[in-house]
Amino acid sequence: MTRIPSPNSRALLLLLLLVLPLPPAVAQPRESLVPGGVALIRLDEGERGYRFRNRPVLTARIDGVPHAVVGIPLAYKPGEYHIERRGVGQVAKKFFRVGPKAYSTQHITVPDDRKVNPYASDMPRILAEKARKQKARDHYSERPVDLDFVRPVSGVSTGSFGRRRVFNGQPRRPHSGMDIAAPEGTPVRAPSAGTVIERGDFFFSGNLVYLDHGQGLISMFAHLSEIDVEIGQRVAKGDVIGKVGATGRVTGPHLHWSLGLNGSWIDPVLFLPAD
Ligand SMILES: [Zn+2]
Repeated sequence: MTRIPSPNSRALLLLLLLVLPLPPAVAQPRESLVPGGVALIRLDEGERGYRFRNRPVLTARIDGVPHAVVGIPLAYKPGEYHIERRGVGQVAKKFFRVGPKAYSTQHITVPDDRKVNPYASDMPRILAEKARKQKARDHYSERPVDLDFVRPVSGVSTGSFGRRRVFNGQPRRPHSGMDIAAPEGTPVRAPSAGTVIERGDFFFSGNLVYLDHGQGLISMFAHLSEIDVEIGQRVAKGDVIGKVGATGRVTGPHLHWSLGLNGSWIDPVLFLPAD
């Protein structure tokens, strides 16, 4: 027999839901002091001008308090690092410690072997695209950033950021982003407001879009079936920028989303609401 709650116990439940405090919202991004993670460093009111690896550092209020938000390169070894600010005859430093993280290895079979072992005739195109991608990743604009990101597509993310990758038996660079499985044609939405700084059909990434969210925070979306934005276009959070596809070096349709901060790819999951 199924127990049906009496009107009284239902009323009690409702009352409990009303009076129990809600869990505090977890601020974004979340700190993760590992290679490919994010350091949140408290700043004093009005403190500005810090740099990391000779690049300007993103500053934002988190829970009302000013912070430097620093992207930690995936290649970093555990140890102590710092941001610094140079004034007249003085250097101010703030330190943070990076711990170890072991990223696993992933073996992937790509049906189109040319995307793993390109022809010599593919190299000029690949090198030209590499330069364009670096330029887009390192782009910097001074504008306020909305750090309250949303998922660009709903779907299952594999959490494979940082994994070492072996394609068709060949070791390649670690995975620089998050893969989200979704059917071809699913709209891809801007996870936060931004300006389109690069787009095109690239050898490895397929159809891609780069969005500048401001202060060195850059999104890259790859393997799209269709691009729906133009260079220079300003998009709001939630605007459709393209559709999920299977272009470039892929095994099937999915969205690849990379998030760069001060020139380093970091784990995008740190910028998404905790599940
Ligand atoms: Zn990917």
